[in-house]
Amino acid sequence: MARLTVHALEKRFANTAAVDRVSLDVEDGELICLLGPSGSGKSTMLRMIGGFERPTGGQILIDGQDVTHLPPERRPTGMVFQSHALWTHMTVAGNIAFGLKLRHLPRAEVRDKVEWALSLVGLAGYGSRMPYQLSGGQQQRVALARSLVLEPKILLLDEPFASLDQHLRERLREEVRDIQQRLGITTLFVTHGQDEALAISDRIAVLKDGRIEQLDTPDRVYRRP
Ligand code: ADP
Ligand code: ADP
Repeated sequence: MARLTVHALEKRFANTAAVDRVSLDVEDGELICLLGPSGSGKSTMLRMIGGFERPTGGQILIDGQDVTHLPPERRPTGMVFQSHALWTHMTVAGNIAFGLKLRHLPRAEVRDKVEWALSLVGLAGYGSRMPYQLSGGQQQRVALARSLVLEPKILLLDEPFASLDQHLRERLREEVRDIQQRLGITTLFVTHGQDEALAISDRIAVLKDGRIEQLDTPDRVYRRP
């Protein structure tokens, strides 16, 4: 469990502000969707929080620790991208174990954690498969497991199911919400789909032109005046 605080976060490209001094508090165990049209700054904001993009201003705090200038591997964050290429020459288990091996954990602990992560995403028994033997939805589940196995304090999801068909997208978002609630992991979920945000959020942050226009619970965001 962790709290994420973003303070006056800014990213300028030449003359335009992709993210324009945004402040946001995400509570322990909360899931907030960043919702907005293409180009509104959602992805840039998430990438800055994950450490993949350097802010031009502002701060990012996780449980009070300033992580603004830390590289991604030193942040307690886990990120899943829209099309998260798995390492094609490694088994599913190898993909999930990779980060754990870098941390030099004992073999037995790696094995236990890999099995835990596989069952968490509903893929128990799939460890020996190669990525190309999996469907698109299963591959995104592996990407999620690869992130969660490192036990990040903050989970960052950038349109993780956008490339999947609608039926599968709906199923996977429910699965993610279920896992997120079971683990109590503080989560930011980027989407441009209102239905998606409505279905899974504790709160929705509506972005426009690099600013948060509205921040509220789904029922309040969607209540018509
Ligand atoms: P969203 O995720 O909401 O679609 P982005 O964060 O990708 O929005 O982009 C926000 C704005 O920043 C857009 O106007 C986009 O063109 C601009 N932008 C993003 N990345 C770059 C870049 N590397 N160089 C210049 N402009 C960029
Ligand atoms: P190794 O580390 O033995 O070369 P891999 O890199 O393929 O094997 O797998 C990484 C880790 O995942 C291993 O340490 C092992 O504990 C675990 N593992 C391997 N195969 C499976 C599987 N089929 N199911 C669950 N866990 C597995």
